[in-house]
Amino acid sequence: MGAALACVLAGQVAAQDFTGLARVDMNGSAVTDLRFGVEVDLELSQPVPWRVFTLGDPMRLVIDFREIDWRGVTQEGLQKSTRVTDLRFGSLRPGWSRMILDLKEPLAIDTAGMAVDPVTNAADLTIRLAPTTEAEFKASAGAPPDPGWDMMAGVDLKAELPVIDDGLLTVAIDPGHGGIDPGAERGGLQEANVMLRLGREVAETINRQAGMKAVLTRNEDVFVPLEERMTIARAAGADVFISLHADALEGDDVTSGASIYTLSDDAESEASQRMAERHDRSDLVTGLDLSGHDDTIATVLMDMARVETAPKTEALADTLIRSLGNTGASVNSRPHRKAYLAVLNAADFPSVLIEVGFLSNEGDRNTLETPEGRARIVAGIVLGLQRWADAEEARAPLMRQ
Ligand SMILES: [Zn+2]
Repeated sequence: MGAALACVLAGQVAAQDFTGLARVDMNGSAVTDLRFGVEVDLELSQPVPWRVFTLGDPMRLVIDFREIDWRGVTQEGLQKSTRVTDLRFGSLRPGWSRMILDLKEPLAIDTAGMAVDPVTNAADLTIRLAPTTEAEFKASAGAPPDPGWDMMAGVDLKAELPVIDDGLLTVAIDPGHGGIDPGAERGGLQEANVMLRLGREVAETINRQAGMKAVLTRNEDVFVPLEERMTIARAAGADVFISLHADALEGDDVTSGASIYTLSDDAESEASQRMAERHDRSDLVTGLDLSGHDDTIATVLMDMARVETAPKTEALADTLIRSLGNTGASVNSRPHRKAYLAVLNAADFPSVLIEVGFLSNEGDRNTLETPEGRARIVAGIVLGLQRWADAEEARAPLMRQ
């Protein structure tokens, strides 16, 4: 692991001790065309460990940093190249930042280096991309062999954490998207931000109730891979998992209200399929491919566990829909949907995805934008959880016989 980390750090820079985040000086920073290639020039307030690599399908250049304060950085201010179709940046996970450039044509990393001014300690990262063939691009594309994300973040996510059952109903609240993955964007609202706000409000309300407590899968604007969201919930001893999202439709500003997705192998509707495509691809889009390969035994065990959780999940979805209606939240005319979504794939606790509304609908936007509007949704979710937990408790003794 040590060797893998060392090779992704920038030489001497790795040995230094960094305090505070580096900032990008927009005056000295730009992505510009060379005669045939592209130059990425970033002027940083201080040197940081970094790495750069390319990814295929679609062709991207990925630059990771530890860590950048992106305030004041704009896409328009940086992106001056005709060979780059999109540029985005953000927080990848605590302690790490990422910039992604979508490439219009196959370009290879020709030179890459960080020069540090000995007087000011400012750092200049220059990456030059030169034309290459599609075949060569494909051959060299790929994240460094062992990104070692777990170690970099200073936590071993795969370690078995002792779970203490405190007798409380532990609810994992999962604000969708975040960081480099903003989710749907419409009318000045961004799904990732709105869901974080809503998620915090749900968690706070849960924590004020007797008999239940909440854990958030993210509590800042940071990208968390789907698998890790599950790990966080599991480590907290979650009894139930609730993922929060808000969709946006193309060419439809009428559809509105909350709907709830539960896991199903066959996504029966177009909406469900679109939902799965949009969400299960987000890890790939942001440059992380964490597709795990379960062995057969694990899969069988998971399927057995799902037989137990599936009816609980269905009951939870129905109770939440009813409760959202009771607290005055707007509910969609087709409130219970099914989709094959990775975030619902946990076998050991019931999990639902609440699409709290549509950012493409003005009424829903107003609801999600205002504390009063969100309060109706928050109250509906908490009431639904309480009703469901009571019903489960009443059912449990019967099941034990
Ligand atoms: Zn979403």
